[in-house]
This record gives sequence, C-alpha cells and structure tokens, in this order.
Amino acid sequence: MESISLYIHIPFCVKKCAYCDFTSYPGQLAQRDRYLEAVCREMRTQAAFFGRRPVKTMFLGGGTPTLLSGEQVRALMEAVRACFDLEPDAEITMEGNPGTLTAENLRAYRAAGVNRLSLGVQSFDDALLAGIGRIHTAAQAQEAVRMARDAGFGNLNLDLMLGLPGQSVQQWTQTLEQAIALSPEHLSCYALIVEEGTPLCGQVERGECAPLPDEDALCRMDEVTERLTREAGFARYEVSNYARPGFACRHNIVYWSCGPYLGLGCAAHSDLAGRRFYNPANWEAYLQTTQSGSTQRETEGENTPQDRMFERMMMGLRMTRGVDCARFARDFGRTPQEVWPRVIERCQRDGLMEREGEFLRLTPRGMQVMNSVLVEML
Ligand code: SF4
Repeated sequence: MESISLYIHIPFCVKKCAYCDFTSYPGQLAQRDRYLEAVCREMRTQAAFFGRRPVKTMFLGGGTPTLLSGEQVRALMEAVRACFDLEPDAEITMEGNPGTLTAENLRAYRAAGVNRLSLGVQSFDDALLAGIGRIHTAAQAQEAVRMARDAGFGNLNLDLMLGLPGQSVQQWTQTLEQAIALSPEHLSCYALIVEEGTPLCGQVERGECAPLPDEDALCRMDEVTERLTREAGFARYEVSNYARPGFACRHNIVYWSCGPYLGLGCAAHSDLAGRRFYNPANWEAYLQTTQSGSTQRETEGENTPQDRMFERMMMGLRMTRGVDCARFARDFGRTPQEVWPRVIERCQRDGLMEREGEFLRLTPRGMQVMNSVLVEML
C-alpha cells in the first residue's frame, strides 16, 4: 500500500497574532482533551475507510501544538500507531511557539516520537514581534532552541518572516544572522502576506502601523537571504525554504509534489485515493462531524485532469528540483512538454526553465518571474 503523509491540526493558541488567518482559537485550552478525542475518533474512522496505511511523514500543525501537554502528545502518537504503520524513519514534525515551551514538555514530545521541531520565531527584534502581536520575545526564542537541543531534537526549523511593518533590510539581515548563529538544520523565510479580515489588514488600511517595506526592499531582503543562507551551508530547495544537506522537509515536499496526504482535525484538507476533501473550520461543527462516524466530508469539487496537471506544475515549480516529468507522464499520460509545448519551449529558449534528468525546473531567473510563467500555462 502506498505511503501517505498525515497532518493533524491543533487549533489552540494563547492569543491571535495580528496577521493570522489560520484556523486557531485563543482561550479554549480547557477543550483540548475533548478536541483530541474527536481527532482520534476521526483517525479511526478514516483508517477503517482508507486502510492501515504506511505513514512516512507526519506534521502536527496549528494553531499552537506546543500548547498540548507531553501526555496529550504521547496519547495522540499512540493513537496514530494504532491506526497506521508509522514507518521507522518517519519524519514527525511539531510546530511550536517559543512562548509556550517548557523543558519538561519538550522532553516528553521527543520521547513520544516527535523528531523535528518547527519553531515560529518570526523575528529576533522585540519591537517587530510586538507589532505583529506575537506572544514571545527574541530571548525566549533563543532559549527555546537551547531547550529543544537539550531535549534531544536534532532537526530544528526556524520560521522567520520578512516584510513586516516597519522592518528595514538591516533588521532582516540581523534576524537572519541571529537565526543562523543558532545553527538550525532548516530555515523557512516567508514574506508577510496581509490577509483581508485580519487586524493587521485594518491597521495597514487605516495607516495605524509602520509602513510595509516596498518592492525594492523586499528584493534586497531576498538577496540577503539567498547569500547568507548559502554562505552558511544551506541550500534553497523551495521558494521560501532552505535546508542543510539531508534536512529538507519531507512532509512539505509531499505537498509540493502533490503526493497523498490525510488531514485530521478542524480545517484540515486531504488528498487521498483520488479524493479531495476537507473538514469544517469551525471546531464545534468539526466535533459533530466526527461524532456521526461518517467519512463523508466536504469535497473540493470536481478537479479536471487539466486542473490537476496545472496544479502539479504550480506546486512542483516552487521547488528548485522542479517537476518530475516521468511521474507526470505516468499519472496523466502526457509529458508537461506535450501539454504546454509553446510556453515550455519559449521559457527554455529565454533561460527561464531547464531540464535536468527527469526534472523540469525554473532557473534562478525563472523563479523571479514564476507567476507570469504560470499565468501563461493557465
Ligand atoms: S501562533 Fe500561529 S496560529 Fe496562533 S494566532 Fe499566531 S500565527 Fe495564528
């Protein structure tokens, strides 16, 4: 049976960050056990329907999964092992907020089998952190890394954000330098997106926060990121992700390669056995769904082969290795070159795309104009 990836959404947070549009609920910590019971119910239902699958990667995302106690994570991992064949070398990631970690919990997470910790550091500038409503300081983030190492985590990611209100290129450079000085195995450097409906969006519209960095500043931040990470021994393997050799995130590569995954918990999406479906974002509605014992979920509508092919390119071209043309041909009966002959030929002629072995990828120059290449394919 084909290996899958497993995503479990933990929607609890201490408080809502100003920019956040993820499904997360502050102030509901008393509901954690009830919610985890529902996740385990859903897990058993889906495992009975899709079979006892081998699981090669697992991701506890949120929200703030590190608001779970060590015992809660242990019980959750036990349920996963009871329902699926967790492969011996499975990558098991947990997202953590530096403001919620304790040495005791970190040791318990590690003992439960979590082997990769992804810390939402965002910045090492306390004023910028406060400006976006994060609950932690730079010093807490540094302490979190130390505690994680002490607890035995040998695979650490630091999430950083660039393009914050009022952030200068110099401030970004300092954050990145401090992150690199902590010797993580992986760095995610995401540009802030001001999502509609978030408090930050209102602040930006009303001019109540410092101005956002302009395009020129963002380009220079990107150049700094590329240079500093390269000099420190990281390779950029996706638009926003950098890893030391052997530490690229296997779970996210499954998403970018359009591989099979099962999502559990409120708002979680799945793409498994040719079906795409998702759970209600509202967690009370989610609890009711799991009580019915049904595997019927909202489906994402009909995806035509054309949609699927385009999605495979859109996701695959985010990675520096590109799209696996042999797998593409196996799955769709045609190669990308047969589906988009003119666009691909022109991109190759203009030095935006290149072929290496079975992989078709964007060149560094092509990465800069990825959106316009994709629009042409559409
Ligand atoms: S910690 Fe993450 S999920 Fe929670 S509110 Fe902040 S950005 Fe959203």
